[in-house]
Amino acid sequence: DVLALGELLIDFCVSVEADGTPRMVGSAGGAPANVLAAVCRLGGTGQLVAKVGRDLFGDYLERCVKALGIDTTSLLRDPCRTTLAFVQLAADGDRSFSFERNPGADTQLQAHELHPTWFEQARVFHFGSLSLTDNPSRDATFSAIDMAKAADCIISFDPNLRPPLWRDLDEARSRISTAIALADLVKISDDEVLFLTGESNLDEGISRLRSAYPSVRLAVTCGAKGAIVDTDSGHVHIPSLPVVAIDTTAAGDAFLGALLYRLTRSDGVLRDAIWDDNLFLDAVSFANAAGALTTTKRGAMDALPTLPEILAHLPA
Ligand code: ADP
Repeated sequence: DVLALGELLIDFCVSVEADGTPRMVGSAGGAPANVLAAVCRLGGTGQLVAKVGRDLFGDYLERCVKALGIDTTSLLRDPCRTTLAFVQLAADGDRSFSFERNPGADTQLQAHELHPTWFEQARVFHFGSLSLTDNPSRDATFSAIDMAKAADCIISFDPNLRPPLWRDLDEARSRISTAIALADLVKISDDEVLFLTGESNLDEGISRLRSAYPSVRLAVTCGAKGAIVDTDSGHVHIPSLPVVAIDTTAAGDAFLGALLYRLTRSDGVLRDAIWDDNLFLDAVSFANAAGALTTTKRGAMDALPTLPEILAHLPA
């Protein structure tokens, strides 16, 4: 169903327990891999185009991704080391990131390493902005988008802005804007809408994006508040499930994986489903539930909900 390209790395999550004890847990991470893990957890199929090092971290990641049911035919090895991410988790569940990446294997994907058959088997091609920070992975990502379009895949993009990874935020804004223009479907957070448009009002920001990219379907995520979709009858706010969030890691990825899964399961042409307001709003409610349930458990891939868990929280 979904072919995703981007970083696969080790997330070291550092937090402090209620009693003051420090805690550090290492696990497989990377937003595109999380999105695929969400798709596979629900019963869909996913394949990852990524690069890890020829090291023990790379071996570990390959095992983890395989165990999640993700197709690793396009998981490549590079002489550079596997990228490591350090995630600090604050008491309110907020996260901050830093990366060990000099350069990390994830930035080393080359255009000539991509195979057209990967794209021909997929219905959706998904990517995020981390592979756009550095070359050669930036050029490889744009080649992959061309190949995905040639294979008639729906293009899905998540800006997933991590400011510390960019030398300069104007560059981030410009590259993310270029990527949005190439996509059919973009999951974007409320903060990213404000960052990209320079607006201070979210509704104005969404309208600005909609008129700048009329052929891109937007799903705007707003944390505990749920999501906003721009429809033919104006902006529709879809509330999320009321949950007690303990760790918001991968909520956005769970949301997107579930959105893609639900859309690929609807009857008819996928491109039409994306633009059918009823189908799309239904898929966003489903995605909200996936995001919300993910926040109720610690971790990223381990916290992703199953199909029965989501359906139990939705009206029949
Ligand atoms: P991102 O900023 O990565 O897109 P969000 O934090 O907005 O991710 O979360 C994605 C989705 O997960 C939200 O749109 C919402 O549906 C759900 N979600 C996230 N946090 C909560 C929460 N505290 N309570 C309920 N749902 C949540």
